[in-house]
Amino acid sequence: MKDIEITPIQPRTTVRVKTLQRASRRLEVVPRDPQRGQYLVASASQPGVFYSVDLDSRALAGRCTCPWAQHGGVNCKHVLAALRYHYTGLGGLSFWRTLADARRQHRRTVKGEGIYATVRPRARRRS
Ligand SMILES: [Zn+2]
Repeated sequence: MKDIEITPIQPRTTVRVKTLQRASRRLEVVPRDPQRGQYLVASASQPGVFYSVDLDSRALAGRCTCPWAQHGGVNCKHVLAALRYHYTGLGGLSFWRTLADARRQHRRTVKGEGIYATVRPRARRRS
């Protein structure tokens, strides 16, 4: 009899933010109605599939139509990708799991939904 391979299921709380962040960088973001925080974000695993992301205008959070988000997950990589895109004008966003992690960056810190972001100001160079 063969051994049954058991894949440990990671609880949502241990999903590593940095892994998500890296994944979110590779996703295509299509602005749908940026004024209202509405974006389409490409699926990483299914070519041609886009999920709808609705950003919360008052917080660093959003809703997504991907299966993971539909099952109660927050801050999926699609939401992170849309947030990065949405706040491009502000500077680069980096995401952190805890406030302590964020504070260590010595940058402006914004609180999200179970997540923190630091803002890297855009270099303003005038030549
Ligand atoms: Zn999603």
